[in-house]
Amino acid sequence: MLKVCNVNCSTGLITINGLSHGLKGFGGRGIIAKIMNAEVDPKCEPLGAENKLIIAGTLLSGTGVPTCNRLSVGGKSPLTETIKESNVGGVAGGMLADHGIRTLIIEDLPKETAWKILRIKANGEVILENGDDVAGNNTYKAVELLKERYGSKIGIMVIGMAGERGYKNSSIQVNDVITGNPSRAAARGGMGAVMGSKKLKAIVIEPALKKSKPVYKDEVAFEEARRDFIKVLKEYPLTGKEGLQKKGTSIFIDFTGSFGILPVNNFSGKKFERLKEIDSNSFVEAVNRNNGKIGIPCQPGCTIRCSNIYNDKDGNMISSGIEYETIALIGPNCGISDWDTIAKFDHICDDLGVDTMETGASIGVAMDAGKIPWGDKEAALGLVMEMVNGTDFGRIMGAGTKAVGEALKAKRVPTVKGQALAAYDPRNLKGTAVSMCTSAMGADHTTGPTGGAPVDPTKKEGQIELSKERQKGFAFCDNSMCLYAWVVMQKPDNMSIPARLLTAYYGDEWTPERMLRVGAETISLEWDFNKRAGFSSKDDRMPDFFYTEKSEVTGAVFDFSEDELQAVKRLDT
Ligand code: SF4
Repeated sequence: MLKVCNVNCSTGLITINGLSHGLKGFGGRGIIAKIMNAEVDPKCEPLGAENKLIIAGTLLSGTGVPTCNRLSVGGKSPLTETIKESNVGGVAGGMLADHGIRTLIIEDLPKETAWKILRIKANGEVILENGDDVAGNNTYKAVELLKERYGSKIGIMVIGMAGERGYKNSSIQVNDVITGNPSRAAARGGMGAVMGSKKLKAIVIEPALKKSKPVYKDEVAFEEARRDFIKVLKEYPLTGKEGLQKKGTSIFIDFTGSFGILPVNNFSGKKFERLKEIDSNSFVEAVNRNNGKIGIPCQPGCTIRCSNIYNDKDGNMISSGIEYETIALIGPNCGISDWDTIAKFDHICDDLGVDTMETGASIGVAMDAGKIPWGDKEAALGLVMEMVNGTDFGRIMGAGTKAVGEALKAKRVPTVKGQALAAYDPRNLKGTAVSMCTSAMGADHTTGPTGGAPVDPTKKEGQIELSKERQKGFAFCDNSMCLYAWVVMQKPDNMSIPARLLTAYYGDEWTPERMLRVGAETISLEWDFNKRAGFSSKDDRMPDFFYTEKSEVTGAVFDFSEDELQAVKRLDT
């Protein structure tokens, strides 16, 4: 039986029930959208008693299908005040599935001031324990203390001081499979602050004594589909040996940097002249120089293995997982092209428990507004340290890019619905920009990426339809698997593979059309939540400067009207 565990932080009551009928056929982001719509007042205070922190496994959690043990984390976002889902790899998803738990719902606020740890014991019992001795630490130290207390094999979801202090850019960090460090982040939208508001420092998952085994309707058919899933991932260039395994997600820098998509100096529209210092070849060189590693998984069983370990010159690990968005937003977006700085930035953000994307974008705005010079590595890290130290400006940084823009009276603030843009210039990748505008969650990069589609990304033609299709597809992806797997499975020839997996697992009939309907229902529920929270089409727009300042690379501007963008929301599935 797949279980839902409710934890009431006010009464301490913990209940475990079977997955309700209404949640069946949904995973991760879909489960969050369903529960938020049914149970949470859209106008509630994100850090108040009425908001819920929901953690949900995918439709294929625990089945051994690569990349499917991700966790979605959601609630109402303190950063955007919209519904939010942010997903994360690491070991926690698989371990939760081993306990048969599909969803954790953390509700209400505690009456006491003590910090708590939610412990899922090896025998399946779920209890709240005092966590005051772990609180007050950032994530790396917290993980060390938790492992001392509960053993080295635990799965951990933890917040740093950012979450404890209620920073709106705070993340929830999860330990990864190779290093055990809390280097995987449910980063976007301030879910760390929601966890902190409930005085929950960490969720600890002990290895299940008796693993909950999935009950397949047709195990033979499932195993055949699983083999096909792995085969096509291995054969596809991006997800096979010569793709992400070889150079990590730094390979996207080569593409975005060549076509004016890479953000440079706070989305100025300029070309990055030092691309060679920051491209995928230079990344590989920098990692190898100090005996780092490329091509490692963030969670057991992932065959794509897009992650990496970056060491300092003495061979000590700085970061386990430098990714495209982080590289782009603290790198060229801030005029920086130094790998050690990027790695240090990544480590400090993971340790403090903040979103590297929001933080990189905030530093870009601070540079643009003249607070620190362009490309000043030390000054950039200094601003991150202000967040760590909780200075006045550090707390403004912790409130996100929009807050930094307001404090510095900046003219160019790249946010949608209060969330910093992902690292794609909207003028030159218009389909992705349409998705970032119309997504219920602000400018998320995973909401409907359109890179590589057979349309001219700088022109309007075809982008609305493309964004609509991609948003449905990637919403299904967030119900089921990692987006790099979905990039392959969304191909018409491959879409039957996840449908076969789901049919063989659950017994009812799954088709590619049904998968897209699940995606469509997920985003419709999210839009509905926002509407009831008070959002309108006026909030679905890019910052003004993208409509008036031309990209120096292509001459394009972002040129979609409010009405044109709303066409995305007329879903036909
Ligand atoms: S593809 Fe990368 S992010 Fe996705 S599950 Fe595998 S290692 Fe993690």
